[in-house]
Amino acid sequence: MTQSADKHVILVTGRAGYIGSHACKALSRAGYLPVTLDNLSTGWGGAVKFGPLAEVDLLDRPALDAVFAQYKPSAVMHFAALSQVGEATRDPARYWRNNFCGSLNLLEAMLAAGCRDLVFSSTCATHGDQDGVMLHEDSLQQPLNAYGASKLAVEGLIRDLGASDGLNAVIFRYFNVAGADPEAEIGEWHQPETHLIPVMLEAVAGARPELVIHGRDYPTPDGTCIRDYVHVCDLIEAHMRGLDWLRAGRGSRVFNLGTGVGFTVAEVIGACRAATGRKVPHIYGPRRMGDAAALVCGSQRAHEELGWIAARSSLKLMIQDAWRWYQTGGYSG
Ligand code: UDP
Repeated sequence: MTQSADKHVILVTGRAGYIGSHACKALSRAGYLPVTLDNLSTGWGGAVKFGPLAEVDLLDRPALDAVFAQYKPSAVMHFAALSQVGEATRDPARYWRNNFCGSLNLLEAMLAAGCRDLVFSSTCATHGDQDGVMLHEDSLQQPLNAYGASKLAVEGLIRDLGASDGLNAVIFRYFNVAGADPEAEIGEWHQPETHLIPVMLEAVAGARPELVIHGRDYPTPDGTCIRDYVHVCDLIEAHMRGLDWLRAGRGSRVFNLGTGVGFTVAEVIGACRAATGRKVPHIYGPRRMGDAAALVCGSQRAHEELGWIAARSSLKLMIQDAWRWYQTGGYSG
């Protein structure tokens, strides 16, 4: 398939993964043609439903150039990344190669093809552990691991290429994405699963004996970690607004995406019980290496400048949507 005459092509990297697949559904609904660029190393072929797949590795520059020549995208949404903190600590070189070198290749290929609009998926992990302080766009950036450090380096690269080559980028930083497509067509699916809500749902369904809570001695009201959870559909809504922002020629901007409200692991378990009507079997284990006690980020800028609100990001809706998706059997069903 080549560029359709009447549709703008948006190249979506990492679309076979959780967040990228939701972006493609939203793009397709909005009348764009999303073209997936994914090496399928951590994604799922089954998540690619809304347009063609270019099975290419970001480290393969000639193959990237060929994709730009074939599809002539007007913009890129760049999600593809390795994103597990523990793994990043064990194998930092892999994270730098994949997340930084891959992005460098992509950005150079984009600019060589004359494509200058980029929506980049960064992370609040670029801030590191700020001791429970509410994060905002100008908070100190002091990443604790190769995941955050490699994403921060890409932010720097984007800024430099903006100055030298006119790259326009909207950068979103976020942490805990949750929920699933309300129509349960796509959702979160990692194997093995490590994220709190899907692990919890596996325990509820009896697919694992219990949820292990990582630590109960943090300086939080009930001793478990606090996180700020955002519904994947709200997150993607922000990305769509970011694309509109770029297409309107408003230039480069960084936005944090959070609800500004954090929940402890124990509170998420309570919400899960309420949303599924079932008990969550759980036990307490030791702290997990690299976990900060509390991570919450505000989104005033996204609200004021993009008109974004986290409308679907109640714990109840996120867990209900994730549970509906889980019950479909996911990509193994
Ligand atoms: N968590 C937990 N047990 C699990 C998975 C996660 O207690 O099996 C906790 C984890 O320590 C953190 C929160 O749940 O405080 C969210 O973790 P997740 O891995 O979902 O996202 P992260 O915050 O690491 O990006």
